[in-house]
Order: sequence, then C-alpha cells, then structure tokens
Amino acid sequence: MAKTQTLRTPARLRDRGLVPADSVGRLDEVAARYAVALPGPLAALVDRDDPQDPIARQFVPDARELEGQPHELADPIGDDAHSPVRGIVHRYPDRVLLKLTQICAVYCRFCFRREIVGKPGALDRAALEAALDYIRGHTEIWEVILSGGDPLVLSARRLREVMKALAAIDHVKIVRIHTRVPIADPVRITSDLVRAMKASGKATYVAVHVNHARELSPAARAACARMADAGMPLLGQSVLLSGVNDTPQAMRELMRALVECRIKPYYLHHADLAPGTSHLRTGIDTGRALMRDLRGRVSGLCQPAYVLDIPGGHGKSPIGPNYLEYAGSNGNAHYIVEDFNGRTHAYPPR
Ligand SMILES: *Cc1c(COP(=O)(O)O)cnc(C)c1O
Ligand code: SF4
Repeated sequence: MAKTQTLRTPARLRDRGLVPADSVGRLDEVAARYAVALPGPLAALVDRDDPQDPIARQFVPDARELEGQPHELADPIGDDAHSPVRGIVHRYPDRVLLKLTQICAVYCRFCFRREIVGKPGALDRAALEAALDYIRGHTEIWEVILSGGDPLVLSARRLREVMKALAAIDHVKIVRIHTRVPIADPVRITSDLVRAMKASGKATYVAVHVNHARELSPAARAACARMADAGMPLLGQSVLLSGVNDTPQAMRELMRALVECRIKPYYLHHADLAPGTSHLRTGIDTGRALMRDLRGRVSGLCQPAYVLDIPGGHGKSPIGPNYLEYAGSNGNAHYIVEDFNGRTHAYPPR
C-alpha cells in the first residue's frame, strides 16, 4: 500500500502553512485534549488563501475547541448507556454498533466521539470474541454496523477475520461499514481491502462520511468507485456544519457530488453537542431551510433525511421539515400539504 504522510502536531501544521506560527501554543493545548491527524491527501485540498476554507474548518484544530459550553456533553449520543459489552452499542432492537478500533485516519474537529477517538482501546482478541458472542447470542440482531473509530484503518487481514466471524452468524444479514477513509486516505482502499469488506453470504453496505463536495477529489472518487464496482451499495452520511455546508449552494453541490459518485445520500446529521464544537454547529432552523431548498431544486436522489441524535441515548429522529398538517375538525377535517414551491393544497382525510 502506498504510504501517506499524516500531519499530527500543530508544529507540523505550521510548517505546512496550515496554521499561523503564533497559534501553535494554544493549539498544542487543543491537541493535548483532542486527537489531531490530517493525512496528506486532505491537507492538499486546503486552500491556504481562504481563511474560511471548508476543508480546513473540519480538520485543522482551532483554539475555539477549548471553549466548552455548559450544555455540551462528553458522550453526546449516549453510547455508554447502551453498551452491554465492550465494543458493542445496542440501542435499537435489530442492529448493533461494533466498535473495533478508536483510531481514525483523520480526526474531524466536530467528532461526536471526540472524547474517545484517537485513544487506545482497540478490541483485543478476547474482547472481540466477547463482542461476537453477544451478537451470536442475540438472534434479533439483523445488522452489524462497524463503527469506531474508523473500521477501514484496520488491515485487510484483521477485517477479513471479523467478516468471516460475522459471515458465520446466521441471523446477521447485513454488515454496514461507516468510514471516512475513502475521503481521508483514498489509497488505503486497495482491492485487497475491498475484498476483505465483504462477508460471505451477507450484504455489505458502506456509509461514507462526506461534508463538502471538494472532499470528493479524483482520488476519493476512484476509491468510492472501487467499492461500488465491487458491488457494495454506498450511502452518504453528512454532518451539517457552520461554514462548511450551511449554504444552499454548498449543500446542493455536496449532495450532487455524492450521487455522481454512486453514493446515495442517507443522513444529514444535525451536529451533536460534542465539547468545544459550538463554532461549528448551526441551529436546527438552518438545517430545515436547507432541506426545503434541496427538495425543491435537486433530484430526489439527492435527498438525505435530516436527523438529530437525541442526547442521552434516545436514538435518531427525523427533524423535518414537515410538509403535512392536519386541519379542521369533525365534518371538515382534512390535511393541508405543502408543495415544493411553498403553496398549500387540501387533501381528504382518507
Ligand atoms: C446511528 C446508530 C445506528 C444506526 O441507525 P440507522 O438509523 O439504522 O442508520 C445504530 N445504532 C446506534 C447505537 C446508532 O447510534
Ligand atoms: S472519522 Fe468519524 S469517528 Fe473519526 S474523528 Fe471523524 S467523525 Fe469522529
């Protein structure tokens, strides 16, 4: 595999002209708290002349990360509340997260698991076996979602072992891999790794995390094509971020770029209340307005569901916008449905 250089300290980021020299002291404080890694292919996408560059905003540490807000949470989506054994999060009846590693190829500054990613805590053989035993013992588990950390930082050999174990569990029908590696370090998506992503007899879906059209560089598009050509359906996961994709134009371009890469937009996540990320969050009203814009103006293929992961571990809920209202009463009850131009129409109750 071709080796990619990764920038891991504020001093290295300064040497590459990605942060001002006088910020290194403060950024060292950030780096002591939250992991930093910027792989070469992503660093190359940063426009150094743009102080608001959407790539830099996502991956280059910022002193504002030291400014926590009282309502921010160390475990914003309540993973801990639903972890029956190490490495497993079982929140919904028919699916579990299996977290094999806490390492990622890049550390997103808004990460909802920023308190744990980048720290040691990979599942060793015994812990993996215990996690697999949990899946084997719960026949209601239809889908296993590899998350983390990023499962595609694992070697093809390690991934193949896990897939082999999952392939042997009858009640598991779907394996879903959540990853940012095709964007962060596309050369890691080798044909060997792609083969290792398939569990024999199961369907493997890959959810690729992308927040700006520019992340889909030619190399990233090629990596996605290798997975799609291997027969794995690709889904897009994006996080709504201030200064990255919170304008109608940026959001339309992102969704279209995903579909061009055969990635079906799945979720637009409202940014979680992760510590020190308030400068990257938007209001929910912003997300709803962007979704309305998309619905009217771009292909149905380009429509994700806008979801909020409810703090405390209550799961994801779609948060609109809503196009249907119930009106009137008794003899005159009816729906009012809104079209993509904002005009309303009556519709009978049944
Ligand atoms: C997000 C999440 C899932 C996946 O939810 P889908 O709606 O199926 O994409 C599963 N388990 C946990 C714990 C999650 O946080
Ligand atoms: S790749 Fe995912 S888990 Fe890793 S830092 Fe980014 S958002 Fe967090």
